Amino acid sequence: MRKILSVILLLTIVTVLSACGIKKAESTNSGYVGISMPTKSSERWVNDGENMKKQFTKLGYKTDLQYAEDVVENQAAQLENMMTKGVDVIVVAPIDGTAALTNVLERAHREGIKIISYDRLIFNTDYIDYYATLDNFKVGVLQGKYIEKKLGLKKKKGPFNIELFAGSPDDNNAYFFFEGAMSILKPYIKEGKLKIQSGQDKFNQGATLRWDGSLAQSRMDNLLSAHYSNKKLDAVLSPYDGISIGIISSLRGVGYGKPDKPLPVITGQDAELASVKSILKHQQTQTIFKDTRKLAEQAVNMSAALLHGKKAEVNDTKTYDNGKKVVPAYLLQPVSVDADNVEDVLVKSGYYTKEQLGIN
Ligand code: BGC
Repeated sequence: MRKILSVILLLTIVTVLSACGIKKAESTNSGYVGISMPTKSSERWVNDGENMKKQFTKLGYKTDLQYAEDVVENQAAQLENMMTKGVDVIVVAPIDGTAALTNVLERAHREGIKIISYDRLIFNTDYIDYYATLDNFKVGVLQGKYIEKKLGLKKKKGPFNIELFAGSPDDNNAYFFFEGAMSILKPYIKEGKLKIQSGQDKFNQGATLRWDGSLAQSRMDNLLSAHYSNKKLDAVLSPYDGISIGIISSLRGVGYGKPDKPLPVITGQDAELASVKSILKHQQTQTIFKDTRKLAEQAVNMSAALLHGKKAEVNDTKTYDNGKKVVPAYLLQPVSVDADNVEDVLVKSGYYTKEQLGIN
């Protein structure tokens, strides 16, 4: 009898323990996430990738983080490879958002793999589930408003000379940035308070393939020698810090940046370390801070929802039409940064330390 009771007790313990075990397995996150970033040559994407990896890992997910060094075919091959390895969700910031990934995404769909478009929208496909980004039009508005304020355009000052740079034509964001900035600058151009000596006022004329700073530098060289040999440039609309750095090199090459020939107002984007230091040295004037930690958090939340078979939280369901569907999106807010608020915005939030920026 005693023996039977012990067996029953043992069986009960085993049953209870295994039930706990099942419960534990259910509440532990399991899933494999592919993270595909465009390039390591820009610090922001390194931060994006690392932030996501860290946050996914903390929640118990396995990750595969890849950078494609701005080569479209690399990115497609890396995505295929992730699918072969068995990922459940892929978060991808496309190098070319136009058509380069259509076939790969069809495979993802066939295999039931969920896709989150990260920061940049992927076009002409039904097979993306969500889009995590920032308010891209607002980025441009903040750049335009900064130029408006710095030149005192509202106070009827002028005329001032300006040149316009835009981002990569295969990146949907580039159009939003340019249009946002032009929504502020265009009236002043029409009125004659802002003059574009080159006459190049269209997106395509200022576009910079793959956001390449050296291409921007040579375009700036050409503009300066063709139109500014006896005129002063007062402002440059630059969409991205890497482009701003190229523009500044060009300007310094012809003598800007000296007391008698100050650098123009130069915008930027991403608050990359080199550019924030440049702002503190009063070379680049402004940048747009996009908190990659928060964007990563959004993408992680979206992925987790998908992995649990749930809907993710979005705050925009009308802006981002990719030609096949309006992609439900979560938009974060960008912040304008110049020498006056670097500490408040970037140091207080822990994005950079004072040591990194070389300030006490
Ligand atoms: C991003 C920007 C970045 C640019 C160049 C855009 O798609 O939104 O933050 O400056 O790509 O990498």
